[in-house]
Amino acid sequence: MTANICNALSGHLYIVAAPSGAGKTSLVKALLDRSQGVTVSVSHTTRAMRPGEADGVNYHFTSVENFQAMQSSADFLESAEVFGNFYGTSQKAVEQQLAQGTDVILEIDWQGAEQVRRLNPDCTGIFILPPSQQALRERLNNRGQDSEEIIDARMAEAISEMSHYAEFDYLLVNDDFDIALNQLDSIIITRRLQLQNQAIAQKGLLQELLA
Ligand code: GDP
Ligand code: ADP
Ligand code: 5GP
Repeated sequence: MTANICNALSGHLYIVAAPSGAGKTSLVKALLDRSQGVTVSVSHTTRAMRPGEADGVNYHFTSVENFQAMQSSADFLESAEVFGNFYGTSQKAVEQQLAQGTDVILEIDWQGAEQVRRLNPDCTGIFILPPSQQALRERLNNRGQDSEEIIDARMAEAISEMSHYAEFDYLLVNDDFDIALNQLDSIIITRRLQLQNQAIAQKGLLQELLA
């Protein structure tokens, strides 16, 4: 494990966590559609593919055996068991993106966030809340991807996931989608505008203006 990868390399690491159904995937996708220089890490998972999902796009879908082999080879920056399935983030893929100066978003659960934060204290954590428990259940139902049994399990887990909100740097409420999207975008934009980052990004301009 490389220590402090987000200090050593030029891209910045963001963690986006939320209870299932709060809208993190929709928000991150909408953010990437309108933003430059930021990408999302494609996790490995042992869960079954949902209708409409594609291998290598939403997740790298993999067997338990392969997942455990990757764990043994220390291929994961973090990994966790969520809803009875394994999820993990490829360390190499994240490092490559950060090395190219691309900001990387990890859509992971609180257990993974804890592991990443411990290794990379400079990372920025963003937690997304639904506007109510009822709205969360409606979104899981409306998404139409999971059985009633899985939705019940995800609702039960939601309270446990949300109890970790205070471990994050930012707290967003995804009520109006566009407002939440602008808020997410502004977190990333604000960081890029900080002096230490602008001094590097605008080096040429500063040299010209100060000549
Ligand atoms: P995933 O299963 O976690 O990957 O969920 P997705 O990110 O694929 O969900 C995408 C869906 O969310 C699409 O059907 C979008 O139209 C829908 N969506 C995005 N924003 C909104 C919104 O503000 N309101 C509603 N009702 N649907 C939205
Ligand atoms: P997550 O990735 O956190 O599990 P999704 O992004 O899949 O959540 O969103 C769950 C469902 O809620 C999706 O059907 C999505 O379209 C819907 N959704 C997301 N944000 C909003 C919102 N602000 N208002 C209403 N529905 C939303
Ligand atoms: P879903 O199956 O709905 O896509 O995701 C279920 C849960 O697993 C979510 O809480 C999501 O944040 C988490 N998750 C997805 N990918 C990863 C990962 O790579 N690592 C960890 N720790 N959690 C993940």
